[in-house]
Amino acid sequence: STPTTPRPRAHIGDIPAYVPGKPPTPRPGLTAYKLSSNENPYPPLPGVVEAATRAVEVMNRYPDMGSRALYEALAERLGVPVEDLAAATGSVALIYQLLQAFCEPGDEVVYAWRSFEAYPIAVTAAGARSVQVPLRADGRHDLDAMAEAITERTRVVMVCTPNNPTGPAVSQAELDAFLARVPEHVVAVVDEAYLEFVRMDDAVDGLATYRAHPNVVLFRTFSKAYGLAGFRVGYAVAQPEVAGALRAVSLPFGVSAVAQAAAVASLEAGEELLARVDALVVERDRVEAGLRAAGWEVPDAQGNFVWFALGERTAEFAAACDEAGIVVRPFAGEGCRVSIGEVEANDRLLEVARSFLGG
Ligand code: PMP
Repeated sequence: STPTTPRPRAHIGDIPAYVPGKPPTPRPGLTAYKLSSNENPYPPLPGVVEAATRAVEVMNRYPDMGSRALYEALAERLGVPVEDLAAATGSVALIYQLLQAFCEPGDEVVYAWRSFEAYPIAVTAAGARSVQVPLRADGRHDLDAMAEAITERTRVVMVCTPNNPTGPAVSQAELDAFLARVPEHVVAVVDEAYLEFVRMDDAVDGLATYRAHPNVVLFRTFSKAYGLAGFRVGYAVAQPEVAGALRAVSLPFGVSAVAQAAAVASLEAGEELLARVDALVVERDRVEAGLRAAGWEVPDAQGNFVWFALGERTAEFAAACDEAGIVVRPFAGEGCRVSIGEVEANDRLLEVARSFLGG
């Protein structure tokens, strides 16, 4: 007889794979750049490394489960009560926690597509149902269609702004008009992972929005602008009942002492880090302008990445980039997302993109 193994719950088999950024193919004589995970090309500041290194010395102990120093630093910087905060093992963990806390099996979660690839994974893992509303042709959220997609089963709507992987951000006026159509028992997530890179008129003021709408939850992260992706720290800002639910379902001790120390030190070095963000924004705008001048129609880039809608030529473009020593993120049949990196890396991208159109 065939041995049987324990069977996971039925929906577990439906969880799509998360395809992480590949490491670069080593090529002799060519420095390779990884532009596939929207990472920050700057390494942590010396003061951040020092703080994290000191924390390493107590790694025989569990961390402060309440991340008290981090909550207090965030509360002060943002001007919110600590009760309105929930820190987590990267903001990706917050997505899981939110769905676990708010969704019954079969409940619906409305979000734009294509967007952050962890959304369908987390929704499926929670036993909930994804309602994916296609982006507009210019890579923007179709907020009208998203509002129309809300049904009695909808428990959560998620707005990713700037949208990963296409780049555009929603304006405050657009968000306000959308939120006016979201029933108050539905959680409205505003995923602001790339918030610090936004440079547009009428940019979303997340904190004002969460103060005005009790159902709004902001997701933020230290992974992008603050350059701490490897430390895994994100946080949510929400009304205390919602933030408390997110904390209640968190993994105990999920944010390590090293991560807490690095995040606090990064908040203290906020100005220096935001100056780096300014430099990345200058590079982003240079890349975007260069691509348009070369004839590419790229969507408005408000994050630390640009989007190439390539359709059937996606794999070909990714291979041409790899050949030039830059690793990008292909989405089969749709396009490539390329992070803004070192000046040299961005130059190479422009070169590949120019000759790709010519060839
Ligand atoms: N939200 C969006 C839109 C993202 O692009 C990412 C990272 N790629 C995250 C959340 C998660 O970031 P982290 O878990 O590193 O905080």
